[in-house]
This record gives sequence, C-alpha cells and structure tokens, in this order.
Amino acid sequence: PHLESCAAFTSLPPMNYTRHFNFNAGPSTLPLPALERAQAEFLDYKGSGMSILEHSHRGKVYEALHNETIALITELLALPDTHQVLFMQGGASAQFALVPMNLRTDSHAGDYVITGTWSKKALKEAKVVGKPHVAWDEHSDAGTWNRVPKQSELSLSEGAPYVHVTTNNTIMGTQFHELPNTGKVPLVLDMSSDILWRPMDFTNVGLMYAGAQKNIGPAGITLVIIRKDLLETARQDIPNIFRYTEVAANNSLQNTIPTFPVYMVNHVLTWVKEQGGAAAMEKRNREKAALLYEAIDASGGYYNCPVEKESRSVMNVVFRLPSEELEAKFVAESAKAGMVGLKGHRSVGGIRASIYNAMSKEGVQALVQFMEKFRK
Ligand code: PMP
Repeated sequence: PHLESCAAFTSLPPMNYTRHFNFNAGPSTLPLPALERAQAEFLDYKGSGMSILEHSHRGKVYEALHNETIALITELLALPDTHQVLFMQGGASAQFALVPMNLRTDSHAGDYVITGTWSKKALKEAKVVGKPHVAWDEHSDAGTWNRVPKQSELSLSEGAPYVHVTTNNTIMGTQFHELPNTGKVPLVLDMSSDILWRPMDFTNVGLMYAGAQKNIGPAGITLVIIRKDLLETARQDIPNIFRYTEVAANNSLQNTIPTFPVYMVNHVLTWVKEQGGAAAMEKRNREKAALLYEAIDASGGYYNCPVEKESRSVMNVVFRLPSEELEAKFVAESAKAGMVGLKGHRSVGGIRASIYNAMSKEGVQALVQFMEKFRK
C-alpha cells in the first residue's frame, strides 16, 4: 500500500536493460546472479519488511548476514584458525597507512617490494609514520615496472616487522605467481586486484588487505585478514578506530559498518561458491587469460604486451598497439561493439582488459574476436 501511493514508483517504465562486457579495473563487473538477487530482495530482505539498506548494523538480521559473510570468506579461502577476517573502510589506500601505524617498530616500518604505482603509494605512507626499507625497486634503475622480482633479487633487511608485497599490479599488468619467501618475517599482501583468484595458503601471511571492488564486490568495504598473533603485538599507541586489535575485538562492528557493500560481497561470494569455489575461479581465470595472451602473441607484433612472460597478470592484461592513435580508435570502436573499460590507466596509456573472477569467458572471447577484426 505504501508503494502504491507513491507516484514516482508507479510511474516507472518496465525494466529494460542491456549489459555490456565490462573490462573496468575497479569498480568492475559483478556476477549477474549477484545483482539479480539484490534486485529481487531489494525492497524486502528475507521477509523482514525492510530493505537491507534500512536495517540496523546492530540488529539480528544484519548480524546474521555479517557473520555468514565472514564464514563464506573463511570457507572459500580455506583460512586456518590462526587468522581472523576483518572488514574496514577507507579502501586499500587506508591500509597503506594503517599497516605501518599498527605493525611498525620504533626503528623499522617494514620492507617494501616496489612493483608499481600502488606499492609506491604504500611506501610513501609508511614513510610518514616510520622508517621503511625498499627491498626491490626496478623502476629506479630501468625506468619501468614490467616484471616482478625473483626471490634472489630481494634485499630483505634485518629486523623488518613485515615485508609488504602488492601481489597483482593492477596498472602494470604484472603479478606474483609465487609469493616471496620471507622466512619468519610475516608477509603483508595488498591483494586488492587478485584476492580469491585461486586457492592460496595463508600460513605465512601476516596480513592481507583488499578493496572489495574488483574481485569480491562493490566499492565501500575493505577485506582484511590478519594473523591473530599480530593482534597481540600490534601497536597500542594509536587511536582505537585505527587499531586492528580493536576492530578484531569488535568483530568489525566498532562503528557503523557500510552494510550494503558487505551484503553485496555476500552475494558475490555465494556465486563464487556455486561456481565451485576458488579452484573453479582459478580454472576460469587461467582460461580467460590464456585466450587473451594467445591473441596478443599470435598477432605478429601488432598487439604487444610489455610485461615479461613469467610476470604476466591473470587479472589485468595490458597491451599496446602500433600507435596511440590506433589505441584511441581501438577503445572507441570496442565500446561501440559493447565492450567498455578497455583504456589503460592514465599514467601508462595503452589498453588494459581487467578480467576478474566475474568476467565471463564469453566476454573475453568477444574481445579476442574484436581484436582480430580490428587488426585486419
Ligand atoms: N592497491 C591496488 C593493487 C589497487 O589496484 C588499488 C586500486 N586500484 C588500490 C590499492 C587502491 O585502492 P582504493 O581505491 O580502494 O584505496
């Protein structure tokens, strides 16, 4: 009765939509079933008479959803009991600052492996609060970040409280296919653009953070996974709201959490689970990436991937065309053909196809066909 009395609602035309293949780097494409479920229960969440948007973050309905989402993450990532799932705000960028604020020692703010723009930004924040050490940065020598380092190239320092690694470089299109061995020193991973792309062992991971908006949901929530022993050793001399210990003690409900992003993460993860979990994602992602890299490599040099083969990302495939004019034409014509978001990051140019978990094989096949046609 409430809706019927509302003219704006009753006058809405029938729903009619077209969906593009969305290659955006983030926020990015989401699984259609996750969006459809949200649409279906938008006005009345599970018979509660309210949208999930309208529920209190302290109420039973949201609490159940919150804990179910944490349980889904724990299950899909096969997290050991030694680790705890947190939800935080401020994106991965806030973690650039919070990691050193919480985990630095008086004399050391971590070893940083610099493989692109994002790790450089993380290092910059660490410098604000302490004394980090650069364990590798090829950019300063060769003027490019077209690969990730080998284990033997890392200069890990004495007394480092952690080693920070960006596992997938969203802009450069590079990815670590094996994590560095840091011995007893915990790894801190920025997995914003490749969390849950495949099964992974968290045993040596001290902390992992990822903005949700690429592989697991919409913008607005950051997934943090922390090894519980670090909660005990983390610094206590910073404001409560910034402390991992405090967030963990409150099950991430120390203040009003963005409930809707968590709700969407739940739908996306449910979809991942229905597909067969992390192992199914790996198969799907490897197939998609192989299709695209094969198309690049078989183009006789027309398309050229600047990344060294062993470092190629399965999530963000970057390539160049013979000229910037052709790249602009490629972006414009692919958009007309229903493929959006293919323009490379403004700092590097070129083409970038972000093919996260939710991107379908059909989307990549359509792109490969378009590439062939465009080249001819
Ligand atoms: N790290 C990586 C690897 C990223 O790709 C991004 C965003 N593209 C960020 C950090 C920054 O994320 P946010 O905008 O959520 O702060």
